[in-house]
Amino acid sequence: MTLDNRKIKKIGIPRAISYYTNYPFYYGFFNALGVEVVLSDKTTAEIIKNGNKHVASETCLPIKVFVGHVVNLLEKGITDIFIPSIQSTGYKINNCSKIRGLPEIIRNVIDKPFNMIEPTFDKTEKLGFKQFWFESAKSLGITDKKLIKQAIEAGWECYDNFRMMAESGINYTTALNNALNGICEKRNIELVKPISVVIMAHGYNLFDERISLNLIKKLEKMDIKVYTSLNIQREDAIKALNELDETQYWANELDLTATAAHYLIKNKIDGIIALSAFGCGPDSLMVDEIEHHAKYFGVPLLHLNTDEHTGEAGFITRLEAFADMLLRKKRQKLKNIEPEKDDLSQTEKQKILLSIK
Ligand code: SF4
Repeated sequence: MTLDNRKIKKIGIPRAISYYTNYPFYYGFFNALGVEVVLSDKTTAEIIKNGNKHVASETCLPIKVFVGHVVNLLEKGITDIFIPSIQSTGYKINNCSKIRGLPEIIRNVIDKPFNMIEPTFDKTEKLGFKQFWFESAKSLGITDKKLIKQAIEAGWECYDNFRMMAESGINYTTALNNALNGICEKRNIELVKPISVVIMAHGYNLFDERISLNLIKKLEKMDIKVYTSLNIQREDAIKALNELDETQYWANELDLTATAAHYLIKNKIDGIIALSAFGCGPDSLMVDEIEHHAKYFGVPLLHLNTDEHTGEAGFITRLEAFADMLLRKKRQKLKNIEPEKDDLSQTEKQKILLSIK
């Protein structure tokens, strides 16, 4: 895996882990450097099977999936693959050991030779953002400072557009495709649905349609309004954590605890769905925390654990039962509430009341 002095023209990015939150930046950055980005395919049963073959069975599903995506890129003949080591995203705000050690995991389980582009991001150790991208460019044989700075700006532009569209309520895939194509538009009207839920989950679990078994689409088919961590601004997430007296320890805490906390405090949701990978330590701690707060706010929480054996049928049954319970609860609430204290319109109330026979 040694790097000679050649300038790398093509880089492979596994469609897993940090891809789901950071890809617009990665794309904008590498594109501006003149490096072609090749993605692994969308997660399939074959990719999971290939990941499974290489790691211990108790490894969490997202890591198995990541390994499978690296194998997929190697099968495509890609020889330079971007596998960053994202240790901490703030002072003592850490990723779990598996994400921190991703390059090491891959080095130890994949025996095929390839060049790993493995910059380190570690705020606790003062290895920050600029250094991370300069290190990435250097690994590609690019050292022109002006060009790298321009590429960082291009990365931010693509990322900011993606976030702005997602925060306005545009769905993940459309916001991502728009951002990659230089389009930036906002949705100005918020859809009103009989019930609303927030999903607390890592982006790599929720937006990987194979891992999440298309959770968002399934809920939307049930006429449920879905909020995710992409719908709120980072500052609002941090504020919500503070309001509930929680401290941020895990790097993904903003996507999980803070997202659920925000919607609980705003009183915008009827339920919380926690989606996590079986055997994930950080997730079980965060779900426990939010379960405690949800009880205080009187908001039901459904915890879905997923692994490579999770079946579609049981998943749907649990979602339908949860949705049914939320509708009944909401109807009861609407019957009891005094009209002047209720901010739902008459039509919205009518819709909810009619939605349960
Ligand atoms: S946070 Fe949990 S799901 Fe994510 S990589 Fe670590 S152990 Fe796996």
